[in-house]
Amino acid sequence: MKTLDRVLVLPELPEPIERLEELAYNLWWSWHPEAAELFETLDPALWLRVNHNPVKLLRFISQERLNEAAADATYLERYRRVMHAFDAYMNATDTWFARTFPDKADKPIAYFSAEFGLHESLPIYSGGLGVLAGDHCKTASDLGIPLVGVGFLYPQGYFQQRISADGTQEAIYEKINFEEVPVQPAKTPDGEDAYVRVELPGRTVTARVWKIQVGRVPLYLLDTDVDPNAPEDRELAARLYGGDNEMRLSQEIILGIGGVRALRVLGIEPVAWHMNEGHSAFLGLERVRELVEEHGLSFAEAREAVAASTLFTTHTPVPAGHDAFTFDLIERYFYTYWPRLGLSREEFFALAHHDLPWGPRFSMTVLALRLSAFHNGVSELHGHVSREMWQELWPGVPVEEIPIGHITNGVHFWSWIAPELAALFDKYLPTDWRERIDDPEVWEALDAIPDDELWALRRELKQQMIEALRARVTVQRTRHGQTSAELRHVADLLDPKALTIGFARRFATYKRATLFFRDLERAHAIITNSERPVQIIFAGKAHPADEPGKALIKRITEISKMPGFKDRVLFVEDYDMHVARLLTHGVDIWMNNPRRPLEASGTSGMKAAINGVPNFSVLDGWWREAYDGTNGWPIGDEREYESEDEQDDADARSLYETLENDIVPLYFDRDEAVPHGWLQTVRASIRTVAPQFNTVRMLKEYVHMYYIPAAEAWARFTADNFARARALAAWKQRVRAEWPRIRLVAERPATHVVHIREPIPFSARAWLGNLTPDDVRVEVVYRYEREDVRTPIRTLTLTPAGLESDGSIRFTGELVPEENGRLEVGVRVVPHHEDLLTPHAMALITWAE
Ligand SMILES: *Cc1c(COP(=O)(O)O)cnc(C)c1O
Repeated sequence: MKTLDRVLVLPELPEPIERLEELAYNLWWSWHPEAAELFETLDPALWLRVNHNPVKLLRFISQERLNEAAADATYLERYRRVMHAFDAYMNATDTWFARTFPDKADKPIAYFSAEFGLHESLPIYSGGLGVLAGDHCKTASDLGIPLVGVGFLYPQGYFQQRISADGTQEAIYEKINFEEVPVQPAKTPDGEDAYVRVELPGRTVTARVWKIQVGRVPLYLLDTDVDPNAPEDRELAARLYGGDNEMRLSQEIILGIGGVRALRVLGIEPVAWHMNEGHSAFLGLERVRELVEEHGLSFAEAREAVAASTLFTTHTPVPAGHDAFTFDLIERYFYTYWPRLGLSREEFFALAHHDLPWGPRFSMTVLALRLSAFHNGVSELHGHVSREMWQELWPGVPVEEIPIGHITNGVHFWSWIAPELAALFDKYLPTDWRERIDDPEVWEALDAIPDDELWALRRELKQQMIEALRARVTVQRTRHGQTSAELRHVADLLDPKALTIGFARRFATYKRATLFFRDLERAHAIITNSERPVQIIFAGKAHPADEPGKALIKRITEISKMPGFKDRVLFVEDYDMHVARLLTHGVDIWMNNPRRPLEASGTSGMKAAINGVPNFSVLDGWWREAYDGTNGWPIGDEREYESEDEQDDADARSLYETLENDIVPLYFDRDEAVPHGWLQTVRASIRTVAPQFNTVRMLKEYVHMYYIPAAEAWARFTADNFARARALAAWKQRVRAEWPRIRLVAERPATHVVHIREPIPFSARAWLGNLTPDDVRVEVVYRYEREDVRTPIRTLTLTPAGLESDGSIRFTGELVPEENGRLEVGVRVVPHHEDLLTPHAMALITWAE
């Protein structure tokens, strides 16, 4: 037929189930299995084909199926139950946040992220950062936190991964059909479609604003593939992490500057702002510009108000992982913008200046640190690494006092727990356990689950995974041109009885995906043991430009075809949230062996642990905090090495020894086919990880430590036409000007041996120039050292005791040692003002001579 045109004919939802459409457009369904089942049971085969996407399902399902469901009493009963739960959730007024902060329930908190991992059918995420952002939004919804997400709706998203027969990674970009994903046009308060405009060199780019509803939390996503943009600008944000540095800069300008404008167009006035990674740091500049141009503040005054209400979370312990641009590029994009901030070119560049081995750069991390008063890393160790990495911005300040804290990541429990396991918990945990997952006491009841029941479920989850993986491999090998005779061998792939190791993550070289094969003979012996067989499943994408990462994938594919390894080593293509669920539910142990300390946190191991899949990992990121000797196994030692080679050798040896001596024997130690000892580790894994490494605990910490203080600072700083922001800026300017003249001379303690609790007098003279004792704090800084163990730094504030004849002011005080050991002391002067939100906010410090 000669086609003239195409028209999409949609089925019509029968009246008794007409709200399925509304349900499909709220991602709430994705973490409520009974809601997902409503869609699945309509047409299970279609559900698989549409990649669990209910919007698409409702486009293509046959009218007959819908009519049947609408006439099926059991289906209708389930439908009513789900819709009732949905309405109760959406209309709830007694959420955790509303109860805890009743006066703040309607004050929005903006959360900016370059990627959001919400569901496999919405490929606008690449990995851990995005999945964390998605889990953050879902949990904010569950807790009633008035969060508003801002990001991109990339029309081509992140790539799909195909692995060719020889192990080559191919990147496929498919255009997302916006009709088939749960996005809707965002509307202005007047009911108009929302658009924003952002200036780029020589032109203005328009971005459309879309909305995705994540439970109660709206997510606003920008899209530049719209009229009247030029073709290159329509492509500008087509892909996540696609294109060169210049495209990346353009994307970040649209995200930061366009994102602020989007919220304004929508009539949303956040009281706190969260930059999830440095990609969105330009949001701080845009907010400064608003205050300068619309409220007449100076740059310094505006910056005080902006920083006071902003949190920046850094995620990267790898220096090269921080976005940085050349000044030439920045000049081209910002030369019309910095005058609007009231800054000169030099001042603007200095804001984000960072010296790198390959030359000075405009660093998005430095910019983010300078435009936010609150900063954090994503695990305890990563907090420490970040303080060391950025110490140069606070010269003279001891590393442990650098104002970068940490909140360890977590996972959204309901998105990652196997529904079958949650059903088992319903049977044995306290009846209100679903409301108390962050309460350790709930998890003590795990011991009540009988071993054989727990083991039967673990085996069932593994069997489901193996079948799903065989189906995926069949699709892949069909594509490779295998005959149906050859395809029959897929049935031999993976052994349900073998101890199954899962390894899935981004294929960056520091993650060392091939470490298990460092000694190929030893790996072979472990895998092919006929009594105690072991198998290993890999998945993960390498960035399309990362050749060494892609070579690792190829190497694993090669090994998976070698004698002995065949059918026992598998690389699963196209790692996404669906594959992540399959693997973290179905394998027996979860392995992670990055080169320490380069893993900021990691979250996939938490998903595994809560499903009863113990971790076997390097003591880095979150696992360093979670491992307690009973809930899994470590790889390697917590130490540093001369060379990467030496580290890799040591870690590989440790990996083999632990597998051979501990893990494999425990797994195969059975009594009537049940591995009682193993199940103790399974229980310990759930009991220790579930209450701690979930996003309920994490979000509550974000709220208490940062969101509420930021919102309160914003209220204070903006009151009376920004009186406090103006005063603080003026005070800082005065202090900064005087600081070079400050001198401090301290007297040494008269004696060097005292007894515990015997006061040690301290006295120091300070020359403060035109500052007064109120503008500063003179402090004794001290810590104890006993047998190489040092306590954290503590401080004692000295009090002014009068003017000396030499023009100095004397400060005195008594330190009463409350511990014995070697006492290390220093004396210093730092600026002090009640509106400084963190110590060392000014990075000025003078130590006593
Ligand atoms: C959870 C998850 C990640 C992050 O896992 P890591 O432990 O940080 O590697 C990455 N990708 C997907 C698809 C995930 O679900």
